[in-house]
Amino acid sequence: MFNPRYARLFETVKIGPKTAPNRFYQTPHASGMGWRAPKASAALRGIKAEGGWGVVATEYCSIHPSSDDFPFGYLSLWDEDDARALSRIADAIHAHGSLAAIELWHGGFHANNRLTREPLLSPSGQRAHFIQPMSARAMDKEDIAEFRRWQSEAAVRARRAGFDIVYVYAGHDYLPLQFLSRRTNRRSDEYGGNIENRTRLIREMIEDTREAVKGDCAVALRLAVDELHGPSGITHDGDAQDIVATLAELPDLWDVNVAGALGNDSKSARFSDEGFQESYVAFVKKLTTKPVVGVGRFTSPDMMMSQLRRGVLDFIGAARPSIADPFLPLKIREGREDEVRECIGCNICRAANNEAVPIRCTQNPTMGEEWRRGWHPEIIAPKASDKSVLVVGGGPAGLECALALGRRGHQVSLAEGSRELGGRVLFEARLPGLASWIRVRDWRQHMIGKLANIAVYRESAMTADDVVDFGADHVVIATGGSWRRDGIGGVSEEPIVLADDEMILTPDEVDRLPKAATSVVIYDDDHYAVGSALAEMLQAKGHKVTYVTPAPVVSSWTQMTDEQGFIQARLMTMGVSLILSHRLVGCVGGQAQFACVHTGRPKDVACDAFMLVTGRVPKDTLYQELLSHLPAGTLSRIGDCLAPSHIADAVFAGHRFAREFGEPKSAALRRERPEP
Ligand code: ADP
Ligand code: SF4
Repeated sequence: MFNPRYARLFETVKIGPKTAPNRFYQTPHASGMGWRAPKASAALRGIKAEGGWGVVATEYCSIHPSSDDFPFGYLSLWDEDDARALSRIADAIHAHGSLAAIELWHGGFHANNRLTREPLLSPSGQRAHFIQPMSARAMDKEDIAEFRRWQSEAAVRARRAGFDIVYVYAGHDYLPLQFLSRRTNRRSDEYGGNIENRTRLIREMIEDTREAVKGDCAVALRLAVDELHGPSGITHDGDAQDIVATLAELPDLWDVNVAGALGNDSKSARFSDEGFQESYVAFVKKLTTKPVVGVGRFTSPDMMMSQLRRGVLDFIGAARPSIADPFLPLKIREGREDEVRECIGCNICRAANNEAVPIRCTQNPTMGEEWRRGWHPEIIAPKASDKSVLVVGGGPAGLECALALGRRGHQVSLAEGSRELGGRVLFEARLPGLASWIRVRDWRQHMIGKLANIAVYRESAMTADDVVDFGADHVVIATGGSWRRDGIGGVSEEPIVLADDEMILTPDEVDRLPKAATSVVIYDDDHYAVGSALAEMLQAKGHKVTYVTPAPVVSSWTQMTDEQGFIQARLMTMGVSLILSHRLVGCVGGQAQFACVHTGRPKDVACDAFMLVTGRVPKDTLYQELLSHLPAGTLSRIGDCLAPSHIADAVFAGHRFAREFGEPKSAALRRERPEP
């Protein structure tokens, strides 16, 4: 039953000439799809609207070829073809009564321009971002006039495509923010110098956009109120106060967050709590009467209500919570808030964008699959047969598989060897900053508890005979994986001689680490979260940790999840010794032996314990034994037991098995192809 305490979340709110049906606002977020996948993008955004988000925004949408982010997934509004393609997205959102917002974008010196080969633009001439060996040219007055024209023309097209809210985007280090910030605006004309001059372009963009949309659309300003660069950039208690005060009533809506890099805004749970942006954005509402939207990985309706009640925000903005559960608003509206699939803050969704691939999510296996596989997050086809299924293993793969099969109506038995469900997440959620990862288990366990056709057997370690005796029509093995001990990892492709067996541990054996072990070496050839999180945990417990990796940085793959800089800073601050760009050679006589990956120069480190974090192998003995015991076609394996990967892949594997069980072999993935 709907909880009247949450009624305020469902009030309508005026945004300029438009009215949002409620206060749930899906702020712009990358989908990794961009202009190459308009049908998939439309399906994704349409599902959000169906799930009750009153406003649904697109990802960044380039206004001109001088801002191209290829190969990353960005939208474009360069011409009428683009407008026609984008009207699909607006239509899909409108089909459910929500407002469609479009985030017009120019990246300035943060664009890539690998596709268009246009010279990069910037306020004052700037070295291109990251590693590209090129520089952006300084815009002259003519360029600024042109730029304003591009924004206007894109706004006209956005209106024609059917969007209700059109953005002026001064966030995330992109061109308008580059004009606002002293760090990047060193101009001496009327667009540089004092705050009034640095704000001039944004003011003009808002006015131009308003004129272009002819009163039909609201104009939103997305502003980074703190670049987190200290006094050299915009700060929430410095320049941002003047910027908001000056522009206060000009936009129809303020969408405010922290920048500069995206990693500050979508900070992972390892480095931020729910509502973490409040102290930065809270001042905005005091300076404007226009509605304000802000984000903070909101999943708790009580936290949302608190933000509204205390006058911090008017709209509950969400990117990741809407990815993990597109139906979050509807579930609250229907009094089913216990069913909200809460985001765990792992940033696997961010990784997809950084890898230039379509979005995926740890908690929501249907994310990105709405059009491609036709998966709906809340609807699943009824079972195709009356077969009963035994799922062995209650980790992410087994739990998701059992739940999705149960939702289809199968009689499901889930056998788990240990007392607690959760598998690998029981361990990973114990690591510093990763406690929210347990939500992967909690949500599934809770939802399984609601279905009478799923029986859960804990403390039931199954042998092959047990499985055969059980007599299920089909058996799914989801027994997971274990950390390997042979040193094979991302860089080392062959086993390594490790003579000191008794002092060598894997993450699975961390509880065996003697308290008396003073110096502990962690060798990370896995490059994701576990190696550095263990280093953090053990250092905090008083061990003297040396973290060694063949990569040039700590936890190198977390560059994809926008966490790498934070992780390395934390280890360095804690005093963990770092040895980078060294690969493992062996471990003999209490000496861990490494060699520089560039020169081969040896480096030995004496240690009392040596932790190998290099990769995982399937625990598939049960599966192998059963192959000769069960009739062909009645045994499957999924998740880490088949091919160890991150949690998102295990959940996906469980879900996919359930969707496809008993169905005719599915055709290849649907892909959007250029018109012949
Ligand atoms: P995945 O990520 O693929 O779900 P996990 O390693 O997280 O894999 O989970 C595997 C689960 O399977 C663990 O909880 C483990 O205790 C359980 N398990 C392993 N072997 C058996 C078995 N023979 N019988 C029952 N449960 C098992
Ligand atoms: Fe949240 Fe992780 Fe899903 Fe992103 S991938 S929405 S951070 S659960």
